Amino acid sequence: MNQSNSDPTIQFLGATKTVTGSKTLLKVFGKKILVDCGLFQGPKAIRELNWQEFKEAESIDAVILTHAHIDHSGYLPKLVKEGFKGPIYCSAGTFDLCQIMLMDSAHLQEEDAKYANKSRYSKHYRALPLYETVDAQRALELFVPLEMNDWTDIFPMISVRLLRAGHILGSSFVQIKINRDYNPITVTFSGDIGNGRQNVIKGPVSLVETDYLVMEGTYGDRVQSKLDPSETLAQCIRKVAKNKGVLVIPSFAVGRTQEILYLLRKLESENKIPEIPVYLDSPMAVEATEIYMRHKDELKLDLEKGGFIEPLCSHSYKTVRSADDSMLLCMKDGPMVVVSAAGMLTGGRVLHHLKARLPKPENVVLFVGWQAEETKGRLLQQGLPKIRIHHQEVDIEAEIVSIDSLSAHGDTEDILSWIKGIEKAPHKVFLNHGEESALNTLKYRLEHELNFSVVVPSFEQEFVLS
Ligand SMILES: [Zn+2]
Repeated sequence: MNQSNSDPTIQFLGATKTVTGSKTLLKVFGKKILVDCGLFQGPKAIRELNWQEFKEAESIDAVILTHAHIDHSGYLPKLVKEGFKGPIYCSAGTFDLCQIMLMDSAHLQEEDAKYANKSRYSKHYRALPLYETVDAQRALELFVPLEMNDWTDIFPMISVRLLRAGHILGSSFVQIKINRDYNPITVTFSGDIGNGRQNVIKGPVSLVETDYLVMEGTYGDRVQSKLDPSETLAQCIRKVAKNKGVLVIPSFAVGRTQEILYLLRKLESENKIPEIPVYLDSPMAVEATEIYMRHKDELKLDLEKGGFIEPLCSHSYKTVRSADDSMLLCMKDGPMVVVSAAGMLTGGRVLHHLKARLPKPENVVLFVGWQAEETKGRLLQQGLPKIRIHHQEVDIEAEIVSIDSLSAHGDTEDILSWIKGIEKAPHKVFLNHGEESALNTLKYRLEHELNFSVVVPSFEQEFVLS
């Protein structure tokens, strides 16, 4: 490959053969542009990568975010702490969601450090948080929301546009155009791609052209269940309504919660379930729902239908903000539905609800998202007779139900159909954000079905785009 001095390079600094820590560095015309700035999450060996010094933080000229999920945005406060001062470009929806998500992430980092200090006895060791709320605030001051679909010049001869990715509110794929006199180049970063089957937000727009493509492959080797989740949800509600029980739905604050609220409203308006109180007990989910409703242009919902004030509120919908009210709710008699976080039971208010409701057979726990290995969520799905919550043994008599067709990611077929309409094969496709086996399966299909040239990059690997 003949490399000229002005040829851009691309380097993969996260989400290589894994699903967290998305960070891709594009160097062009002396500028360094970081696309996504995600936190590494999951096993300790992966989380420890967050603690490495980001040597180039000060010299990065701009960050562009595909969406607000912490595995794409959660490293920003650390980047700022290490000297980054440039603009952070993203959609308006992503900016709004980052305001709650980065502050929540900083709060969790502070709590982790406090907990570590409490449980260690050495006077010589003090755990520090990865970053603090003040770092998150400073990061938020650097945000520059962009209009979707329009090209914006961010540096001379470098422009950017965001196109709807349909994964969560505000999620976009990022196109960077390098407008050099000879051979201009467009590089596209997919971020996480939606599947178009969500009820609340609109699906992704198709990718039409790009010279290089950095693409996610989380579900690169899987086809998702396309079953309508409504009937399972309705059965759970009918059971608790009849037995005066409680349906506890552990849910992720952004995306999944809004889908559940929408389905509850729809089932009620179609008279498929009785009207029972629905409590949303998660301050972050309450705020995220309000943000969704402010960005109506991104929603599929027909706001006029059904005579509801807001299409995500069933008739007896109530939000719970204070911790005291949450504890009182744990003691309240059914029938009712409680939607609460965290979705995988890694912490949060839902644990109190489970402690109160799991020992009784009239109650139901409904999982609406994938439960990672070694989480309490996975343990409950395995049908154990007891579980430990807050250092207490809790009997499991409640019914445990799971719905697996509410994913916010596209599966293999969705990913392929997102790029099938492309006018000309890209010079190169880089697959990241996925387990290695998923990425290799997707690579094989792209090479054999679409004749694309595909690479699965390793951590810190760098490529020249000519
Ligand atoms: Zn995501």
